[in-house]
Amino acid sequence: MQKNEQRVIIVGGGFAGVKTAKELARSLPHHVQITLISDKAYFEYYPGLYRLVTGASPVEACVPLSDMLPSRVEIVADRVVSVDAHEKTVTGMSGTVYSATYLVLALGSKTAYFDIPGIEKSSYGFKSVEEALTLKHHIYELFNAKKSSETKEACLAQFHIVIVGGGASGVEIAGDLAAFTQDLAKKYHVDQSLISIDIIESSPRILSTLDPKVSKKALEQLRRLGVNVYLNRTLVKEELETVYLKDMAMNSKTLIWTAGTQVHPLYKTIESFESNKKGRISVNNFLEAKNSSEVFVLGDAADTPYAGLAQTALYDGEYVAYVLNCKIRGIVPNVYKPKSVAYAIPIGKGWGILAMKHATYTGLFAYVVRHMIDLIFFAGMVNIKKLLTMYYEGFKYRKLEAIYDAKK
Ligand SMILES: Cc1cc2nc3c(=O)[nH]c(=O)nc-3n(C[C@H](O)[C@H](O)[C@H](O)COP(=O)(O)OP(=O)(O)OC[C@H]3O[C@@H](n4cnc5c(N)ncnc54)[C@H](O)[C@@H]3O)c2cc1C
Repeated sequence: MQKNEQRVIIVGGGFAGVKTAKELARSLPHHVQITLISDKAYFEYYPGLYRLVTGASPVEACVPLSDMLPSRVEIVADRVVSVDAHEKTVTGMSGTVYSATYLVLALGSKTAYFDIPGIEKSSYGFKSVEEALTLKHHIYELFNAKKSSETKEACLAQFHIVIVGGGASGVEIAGDLAAFTQDLAKKYHVDQSLISIDIIESSPRILSTLDPKVSKKALEQLRRLGVNVYLNRTLVKEELETVYLKDMAMNSKTLIWTAGTQVHPLYKTIESFESNKKGRISVNNFLEAKNSSEVFVLGDAADTPYAGLAQTALYDGEYVAYVLNCKIRGIVPNVYKPKSVAYAIPIGKGWGILAMKHATYTGLFAYVVRHMIDLIFFAGMVNIKKLLTMYYEGFKYRKLEAIYDAKK
């Protein structure tokens, strides 16, 4: 970097990072360089992952960063391994040291297993396109591998799916799997009564961060779909295809873990950063890490009231772009005001919950709204040609899958 040059470095190509980069590219004076460093060359749309397990194309949840960002943003594929907040430098796995005038950290979160024995090794995670496709292939394998000589107990274990976590991700995947596994049963000539799907939730209700009435409606819908919900239960360990709760054991080849996330471990290694009990990084009124001016933390990692949601990460990205613009132009920015969130959760085909601050809707309307949200998000992120290609490729993929399944 030349002496008079300014450079914004954004680390992380997820919701917050991409939104910041897009907004900066549109608004920053041209002498300021914008670099986005991410360990993956593509953006992953986590809210759409559950659909990949049950037949949607990966193109519907995985978009190259170069298709989302204007050419003004330099995209670097590198895994950041250390951050010096004082010097405003980050070091990549490649050995390169990247030096910034303003550093934006948007590394998101990772799956947490809470040291429960056996879980990390034997469960199916659900936080990347790769994990979603691994789970999908496993489910196909279960149906492919069925032998007529097997005992009823073996068959019941074979088609027993246990989902740990009754939050939005667990509930969404349970609802979609309920219909999907029944379809597979028909195609692979498996007795439908052999299939069971359970949710294990440690709180007294599912969707425990939402209004109790919303939890009740979600529970009723899951029951209509044939999903069993075990409340107030925690997983103790998993071994040899057996899932142990405190008071019972279940035989299953499929344990899906949706129960925990933790702030990206790299944040813990940054000297001068302070965190709350959940590991979220303390930030000031402008989303700068406390004690580290011009180093911003946003999205899942920032200690803000609604962190942990894509909506918040996008909002943070937009806000940090605004603050940077103000700083570079010598204007004092307005302080960060947290924005309340809404929840749109699909549970099974054609049914969803839309929970907003003052109103809740359930049924087809909420389901359609959720799909509209997905569409609006991508329409704001890619150009119309790319958007149409994504949906067309997705449609072709589903059609091909249907032809392949029909040949079973
Ligand atoms: C299955 C699932 C479903 C969800 N559904 C919803 C939903 O319906 N609605 C909602 O609002 N929220 C939902 N969320 C939550 C939402 O996805 C997150 O809150 C959001 O992704 C947070 O954005 P972020 O930018 O902080 O992190 P992320 O989007 O996770 O981005 C982090 C980025 O950093 C990159 N990265 C990681 N480590 C490094 C490294 N060392 N070096 C360089 N780059 C690195 C990653 O590859 C990624 O690109 C869901 C999450 C999951 C897992």
